[in-house]
Amino acid sequence: MVSGLGLYFISIRIFEGHPLSAKITQQLFVGLFISNILITLFSNNEYISVVLNTALCVIISIACAIYLLRYSRYRRSPEYRFTGGFFAIFAGLTLYRLYVLRADTSQPVVHLTEWTLNEITFLACLVSVLAVNFGFILMVNEKLAELLAHTAGHDWLTGVMNRRNLEQVAETMTIKSVKTKQSQAMLLMDLDRFKQINDTYGHLFGDTVIQTFADLAKSNMREIDLLGRYGGEEFCIVMPNTTEQEAILLAERIRAKFEAMPIAFNDSYINCTVSIGICDSDQGGKDFKSMFSAADQALYAAKKAGRNTVILFSDL
Ligand code: GH3
Ligand code: MG
Ligand code: MG
Repeated sequence: MVSGLGLYFISIRIFEGHPLSAKITQQLFVGLFISNILITLFSNNEYISVVLNTALCVIISIACAIYLLRYSRYRRSPEYRFTGGFFAIFAGLTLYRLYVLRADTSQPVVHLTEWTLNEITFLACLVSVLAVNFGFILMVNEKLAELLAHTAGHDWLTGVMNRRNLEQVAETMTIKSVKTKQSQAMLLMDLDRFKQINDTYGHLFGDTVIQTFADLAKSNMREIDLLGRYGGEEFCIVMPNTTEQEAILLAERIRAKFEAMPIAFNDSYINCTVSIGICDSDQGGKDFKSMFSAADQALYAAKKAGRNTVILFSDL
């Protein structure tokens, strides 16, 4: 039981995305080793060996419960609360068993002896272990559902939102902006002469350029802004509570930083550029489609003006 509970603890951490911790695994083995030595030393005293094992079970199950209920990233999800809760119940019952054993040393302590209190606590422990296992199945289920939702809504190459997801979230944002009478800005960005980059340096390098640009855009925008990959090398940023004049600051920053950013190719460095079209809901229209069309016109003008440029829809 102690090894099983220890493996539970290690598995919970791995399930959370932590690498297999050598330190925790070593501690578990050292604990087991010491307890086995003690149990062997006191092999003529069943009472001590049972108390020792039970105490270890209490400690590890409390650690599992605390980890799931307090430290886990998903501690607020019902699945984690369910599993953590049953670890706590298990720990409580085991602790109670320990207390009962301590209180009456005259009773035989072999697990399944016919002693009602012993049987009841032991069976209740088994039920809570079953519930914990059921909780793990729920946790796996939740993780798969989350993974599926993330995969469906995000671009595999850059990790930013895909077109469908961006449109959905931006439309909700637009409704909010209209209600609060705040303007919303949109940046449409298209990498310059990208076909040429692919043809000259290969598609793998092209992919690196796309990833580099997405990282740059992500690290320069605010937390509340939305970034999506709209097409091959086209990106869109939606900025709530922002006007064209404010959005131009971000657009210029992204344009200038991208131009100045050398991207490693074999032993040399390549510089790429981006063209950006901007509009806001005051100029381009209140709904997502009209704003997109306005930003697209500004982007087209930026390409026509020689690329590596930012153009406002209101200036057209
Ligand atoms: P412009 O300056 O006018 O934008 O010229 P451009 O060459 O960038 O023209 P366009 O936007 O039409 O080119 C898009 C190219 O992007 C075509 C396609 O081969 C390439 N592409 C699309 N998706 C990917 C991708 O995921 N990886 C790579 N490496 N290339 C892609
Ligand atoms: Mg394009
Ligand atoms: Mg392009």
